[in-house]
Amino acid sequence: MNLQALCKRWQKLFRLQDWDITVEVMGVVAYHKLEVSRGWEAGVSNAHNVINSDRKKAEIFVSIDAPDKKTSLAHELVHILVNPLHLSAKSTLDCVPSKDVSDIMATHIEEGLELVVYAVSRALLSAESAEYK
Ligand SMILES: [Zn+2]
Repeated sequence: MNLQALCKRWQKLFRLQDWDITVEVMGVVAYHKLEVSRGWEAGVSNAHNVINSDRKKAEIFVSIDAPDKKTSLAHELVHILVNPLHLSAKSTLDCVPSKDVSDIMATHIEEGLELVVYAVSRALLSAESAEYK
């Protein structure tokens, strides 16, 4: 199953079927150029996403170098799933008067979100592999 088809399958599982989500596997040079143009830290992650919750549209970019593209897709798809929580946390941070405190809180929120995304994406992959044994 190719990544776009797998994405569709998992969208249904996560009740994200009304979202327009595209998955693009990119060559090393194009992926690096994308990271630089978007201001993302280059060379740290094998996949990225761009999420527009208002339009229910998202793009997932996976590097051809990603050792396990299915895992990368699962991870980025769960980011879309938890995006409302991310947006809510960002709005809450806007209410914090101290930038230093806000920055510290933002770091903790990002770390917490990554842990949740990691756990849920692992559970998805585990359930998926158990289903086909
Ligand atoms: Zn992540």
